[in-house]
Amino acid sequence: MKSETLQLRLVGPTLLVGVLSAAVLMLFLLTLSGRADMEAQAREERLVANGVAGRIAEIEHAVTPQTVWDDAVAHLDNAFDPAWARANIGQFLWQTGGFAATFVLDAAAQPRFAMIDGAEASASAAFAPFAAQAAGLIADVRAAEAGRAPLRPAGGAMVAAPIQSSAVAVVGGRFFVLTATLVQPDFGSRLPKGATAPIVLTGAELGGDFLRAFERRFLLRNLGLHAGAFDAGPGEAHVALRARGGEVLATLAWAPEHPGAAMLRQAIVPIMLVVIGLVAISYLLFRGSRRMAHSLIVSEARAMHLAQHDALTGLPNRLHFTERLSHALERARRTGGEIAVLCLDLDRFKEVNDTLGHHCGDELIREAARRLAMTCRASDSLARLGGDEFAIVQTDATAHSAAILARRVVETLSGAVELPAGRAFLSCSVGVTLVASAEADATEAMRQADLALYRAKERGRAQFCFFEVEMDAALRARRVLEQDLRDALANGDLELAYQPQVNARGVVTGLEALARWTHPRRGPISPSVFVPVAEECGLIEQLGMFAMRRAFLDSRRWPNLRMSINISAHQLRMRDFIERVAELVRETSIDPMRIELEITEGVLLGDDPETHAALQRLRQMGFSLALDDFGTGYSSLSYLRRFPVNKIKIDRSFVASLGLDSEADAVVAAIVKLARALNLGIIAEGVETNAQRKRLMSAGCDEFQGFLTGRPATAAEIDALNAAVCEAVPAA
Ligand code: C2E
Ligand code: MG
Ligand code: MG
Repeated sequence: MKSETLQLRLVGPTLLVGVLSAAVLMLFLLTLSGRADMEAQAREERLVANGVAGRIAEIEHAVTPQTVWDDAVAHLDNAFDPAWARANIGQFLWQTGGFAATFVLDAAAQPRFAMIDGAEASASAAFAPFAAQAAGLIADVRAAEAGRAPLRPAGGAMVAAPIQSSAVAVVGGRFFVLTATLVQPDFGSRLPKGATAPIVLTGAELGGDFLRAFERRFLLRNLGLHAGAFDAGPGEAHVALRARGGEVLATLAWAPEHPGAAMLRQAIVPIMLVVIGLVAISYLLFRGSRRMAHSLIVSEARAMHLAQHDALTGLPNRLHFTERLSHALERARRTGGEIAVLCLDLDRFKEVNDTLGHHCGDELIREAARRLAMTCRASDSLARLGGDEFAIVQTDATAHSAAILARRVVETLSGAVELPAGRAFLSCSVGVTLVASAEADATEAMRQADLALYRAKERGRAQFCFFEVEMDAALRARRVLEQDLRDALANGDLELAYQPQVNARGVVTGLEALARWTHPRRGPISPSVFVPVAEECGLIEQLGMFAMRRAFLDSRRWPNLRMSINISAHQLRMRDFIERVAELVRETSIDPMRIELEITEGVLLGDDPETHAALQRLRQMGFSLALDDFGTGYSSLSYLRRFPVNKIKIDRSFVASLGLDSEADAVVAAIVKLARALNLGIIAEGVETNAQRKRLMSAGCDEFQGFLTGRPATAAEIDALNAAVCEAVPAA
């Protein structure tokens, strides 16, 4: 996934979460404050409604002392006394309670006295506007009066409970609480004279004073009284004042407290801070996750790269290469072109690795990869398949272009490379196959290139070779050969031949043991063919031990002769090699002083401590060491000085060139001088002619091995030869 896409996918949800949580918080607070306001308003309305009821009760209370009173019965009922009514009802109630209207109605409910706003008025005229609204109250009082228990003086106790009825009323545009109170005795010193007593009707005005007092008492703001049902605005509280019949006469309205809104106003700053904090946290979260996502993407890409590339060289690995090859084949199938697959392998890399160490081996691989990368074109696919194996796919190839590339690769990967542990010589072998689209898949193409590589190695390395159909047959033949060699070793079909080594006087001084295998169908097979096969398929230990045992045993037949035995580098690397040799010495009871072990220069390459120790142990056991094929490998003076070698064997390639190539004479002379200087023995191998022998002798070499002085022979033949030698040179 692209990094931007992933980031976008992250931004959306994170920001959404931030904004949503802030919105939800705000909504929650708004709802909470709205509900708090509503509840506060409802409470205020209940409080005011109770307040109105309380006020009515207070009004009723204020009237009671003047009406439930023996004196009132005496002056209003028993006989009507207008002066008393004026002083004790009209004026008293106006002055003490602020009652704006006061009436005294007689037993028949006819007005007998009236006072309006502190002034006595004509009773019937003043009462007329109140009559209709007072009727219901009067009826209530009469009903209660009729249901009252008979009045009886109670000797100091109250005779009767007050009988009253109140209601809100509008008269002449003024709001009143109208209260009808029955005149009753309190101690019963006077009792009403008839069945019905007079009634005092009072009207307490709900005017400005009432409203201000109410405001103060209940801590209300903007309290107003409105006629009829009032349409209260939003956020305005109201209480309906109802007439006795239930219809709404007036409405008290005011501006209630808004505790929720007030709280919200106070909390808005902290809330905003919280919201900003939330948004900041969301942003930080977003940034953190973006960074995490980014590093995830990077590590995924790295993991992908690692899975497809080789860690040492950074080149595509086998897996990746196979994919590319398949794609190239697929494309070639569509477009009809051809592709070339080159498999290459560094020559003798294993020796470098084993002797100079893995660190140097890695260096060499890196250097090879670097050079190869420079050799390939952009359209070629280069890969490291593993170890010292590389491969290249060349698209739109022809036999000609593939050959050019292969030659360039061989040339690029040849020459000396300076490594931390010393100089190594780089060379490589290349196998090439040209695949026409339809005929092969990736596996088959690789197999063909591998076979060609194998052939290039067989032909002497440092070259390239094209795949040919017959190589399949060659491979099969090699597999058969491996199996046959295995069988031959198991069946004891291998033998040893012995080639004499002679001194300057022609006297045989030693023998070199050479393995011989006569194949049941193919006849004799050269050890230069089957020894490398044994080395490659893991049979060399068995072959080496066979040759050593046979040579040890046979050497007992010729006690006067030194026995030389070839040791492969693979054998020296075996962990229990020394123990097995010691065991063999004990078993065959031979004297190691008479045995010479031939090793090649490759064994000495690098300063491998194990090889060093193994050679030292062999010397301590009494064996002497000869350096075989000297001059063909990594001849180094320092190796000769460091390793406990006793003798140098001049390779037969120099001997063969003696007299033909002046350089060969010089090289041989130099080798002989070197050996003398280092106090080493010297022998020349492959001496075929007398001329060669003479030249060697004049260079200072006095020991020879070759067809001139004796071909490899059977033990029986050596028996005969040795008898002759013993005759000619009797043992001292
Ligand atoms: P090498 O150790 O250098 O043995 C000498 C080779 O030169 C032998 O070849 C021998 O037959 C050949 N030779 C001797 N004199 C002449 C001559 O005058 N002219 C020519 N053209 N050749 C001559 P061979 O027996 O075919 O052995 C080849 C190689 O196989 C040996 O080379 C040695 O490296 C290896 N080998 C043979 N036997 C054994 C063995 O038992 N163990 C191991 N590890 N390697 C062996
Ligand atoms: Mg040899
Ligand atoms: Mg040799």
